[in-house]
Amino acid sequence: MAHPTVDAHTHVFCWGENPAEGYLSTKTRESWLTWLLLKTTDIQNEPGDTLSAKMRHRLIRQLNDSRLDYAVVLAQDAVYRPSGSRDDAATHFYVSNDYVLQLARDCPKVWPGCSINPIRRDAIAELERCQTAGCRLIKIHTAIQGVDPARREFDAFYRRAAELDVVLMFHTGYEHSCTVISQSFTDPGRLARALDHGGKIVAAHCGTCAFFDPENYYTNFVRMMELHDNLYGDTAIMASIIRWRSLWRLAEERPHVRARILHGSDYPFPPHRLPYVFRIGVFPPERHNAFDLDLRIKESFQFSPGYTNQIISLLSGG
Ligand SMILES: [Zn+2]
Repeated sequence: MAHPTVDAHTHVFCWGENPAEGYLSTKTRESWLTWLLLKTTDIQNEPGDTLSAKMRHRLIRQLNDSRLDYAVVLAQDAVYRPSGSRDDAATHFYVSNDYVLQLARDCPKVWPGCSINPIRRDAIAELERCQTAGCRLIKIHTAIQGVDPARREFDAFYRRAAELDVVLMFHTGYEHSCTVISQSFTDPGRLARALDHGGKIVAAHCGTCAFFDPENYYTNFVRMMELHDNLYGDTAIMASIIRWRSLWRLAEERPHVRARILHGSDYPFPPHRLPYVFRIGVFPPERHNAFDLDLRIKESFQFSPGYTNQIISLLSGG
C-alpha cells in the first residue's frame, strides 16, 4: 500500500448496557443531539442485540465499505476528582480503553486511540499499559474531562508520553456535544507546556468554534502552529454546518501550517453537504458513506500532500 488513507479522529459510543465498557449518562442519552444522531444514523435498523452493538456494527460496516485504509477510533476517559479518584456521577460520556483496544483486535482497519485524563492517580501507569497494548495516540478531552493542559502537575505525564513516542491529542475549540466543565481549557494557547516536552501534539479541530460561540480560538491555533514545529491540527467536525467557514480559512493558511494538518472526520458526527455543493456536486457518489463524504469534502481543499497519511509517521515515532 503506497499511501494509505487514514482518518485520525473517529468515535465509537457505548450506550451503557455494560458500563465497564462505556456509557452515556442519562442526561446525555436524553439530549436533543443524541436523539438527532441516533435518528440521522438510522441506528435502529443496524444489526445487533443492543444499541451499543448496533453503533459498533455501523462503525465497522461503514469503515470497511469506505475508501479509508485505517481509522483511529478514540476512547473517552472519565472525569476525575482533584484527589485523582474517578467521578462517575460527573461523567457523561465514557468509552473504556479496553473497548477500543479490543475493537482494534477485532477489526484490522481500526487503530486504537486510548484516552487518559491526566488528573487520574494512575495516569502514567495507564499510559504505559496502553502503549504496551499497541496504542500510539492518547486523547485528552480538555472540556469534557475538565483538563487544563497548562497545569504544572501534568509535566511527568507529558514527559513520559514524549519518551514513549505516544502522540497526545487534545480537544481544542468550544465543545457542544456533551456536558462541559470549562470551555476555556480548549484554547490551543494553553498547550505550550505539553509542547515544551518535545512530543507530538495534535490540536483536534484546530481550535475552531461555532459561528454562535462568544469567542474563537482558531487564531490562537495558528499562532501556536507558527511557534511549535511539533504541533499538528486535525479537521475533525470542521465539515459540520456550524463550523462551515473553517475549512476555507484553514486552506488559506501558509504552506508550513497546512503541511501539519491531519485528516479527521469526527465520525459518527456527519459532514454537511450544503456549503460544499459547488466543490463536490449536489449528489456526490460518496454521500451514502459518512467517512467517504467527509473525506471527499476535505480533499476538495488542498491542505498538503500528506493530509491523509502523515498521521502514520507520527504514530510510528517519525
Ligand atoms: Zn471528536
